[in-house]
Amino acid sequence: MTQYHNPRAETLSRDELTAVQDQRLRKIVQHVAERNEGFRSRFAAAGVDPRGFRGLDDLAALPFMNKDDFRREYPLGMLCADREDLAEMHMSSGSTGTPVVMPYTANDLHQWGECMARCYVMAGAVRGDVCQITPGFGLFNGGFGCYHGAREAGLFIIPCGSGNTVRQIKLARDFGTRILTGVVSYALRIMEVLAEARETLPALQIGIFGAETFSDQMKQRIYDGLGIEVFDIYGMTETGGIGTLGMDCPDHSGLHQWEDHYVIEIVDPETGAPLPDGEVGEVVVTSLTREALPVIRFRTGDLSRVVSRQPCACGRTHLRLDRISGRLDDMLIISGVNFFPAQVEQSLLKVPGVLPNYQLIIEDHHGIKRLHVTVEAHPGVTGYQVEKQLKEDLNFSPDGEVVAPGTLPRPEGKARRVFYKEIP
Ligand SMILES: [Zn+2]
Repeated sequence: MTQYHNPRAETLSRDELTAVQDQRLRKIVQHVAERNEGFRSRFAAAGVDPRGFRGLDDLAALPFMNKDDFRREYPLGMLCADREDLAEMHMSSGSTGTPVVMPYTANDLHQWGECMARCYVMAGAVRGDVCQITPGFGLFNGGFGCYHGAREAGLFIIPCGSGNTVRQIKLARDFGTRILTGVVSYALRIMEVLAEARETLPALQIGIFGAETFSDQMKQRIYDGLGIEVFDIYGMTETGGIGTLGMDCPDHSGLHQWEDHYVIEIVDPETGAPLPDGEVGEVVVTSLTREALPVIRFRTGDLSRVVSRQPCACGRTHLRLDRISGRLDDMLIISGVNFFPAQVEQSLLKVPGVLPNYQLIIEDHHGIKRLHVTVEAHPGVTGYQVEKQLKEDLNFSPDGEVVAPGTLPRPEGKARRVFYKEIP
């Protein structure tokens, strides 16, 4: 029988969900317009009168937001709450320098905990389960998000934070960790260290991974290596952190999105026009229940599609998105072909004997780009095999280089896999 953290909210009928969203959307649009001059002027410029705003029917009239708005308004220019009500903040930096800051009121932390707790319970967590948190406890939202949710779900928390893999394994063994949270690349690291020590973690059953896009092939490798069920959790700094948006359920037929807290749209990345269900486009998020800094039609840069709005086999009614196929910022164009690093990963892992550690090096010779793929593999795998598979899947010919297991650097956080190199 399905366990829910919030049975009523997670099984609302489609009509009920729509009614909740409609009412909350009207309220949040008025809230941001009342509390913040920037929102007010952006609405005015788009011809939207918050007092006459009718809810979902008027959603497409609202202007988009993006990361640049956060950066321009650094540190707290978009705040929609009183300063004395702030309780916590998180921040992501990205490549351009000025960080994206997300402030929280106590109610926002509760909202985060609620969404994240739904994810834990959806993955099969029960009260008292040992939950080991491996993302860092700091400005990055991963560690604290896993923590707030685990508190809400009544789990026994081991707040390891990142790094020290040998100690992580010792604690997991000594305390019987059942749930591991982190980034996928760190799960790979744990797998490796376990293999070297010829050890297993029999109590470990559930892996909740976020922050990196990863392929189904990668999921399968982790399932095979650690013997755990892998869940793909979704949420970002701007929406309030890890788990705020949702996760896949044990049916693994898409990522449920907590629609009583967020409105999800898929739009054409070029024109911004809403796309019908099933078509791949950019995920746009409106947060309905956050106080300090709600996002209104935030363009995430993530690509996905709506898989279904029908009730799921697990009993939840919240819509399902396909796993994130890529981020617009990460899109690579080589020899006129557009592709995402996750597609290269998917292709590499089809080759038997290839290990899930790889680097993509974009070599730029006066504007002519070539892709050089370096991947670890067991003896016997050749560069030719790798090149052949990549050519078949990507429709162009990267260079493939095979190196011995353990050659490439091991990240303790989010893995950096794409590198640029100017060739004079
Ligand atoms: Zn489901």
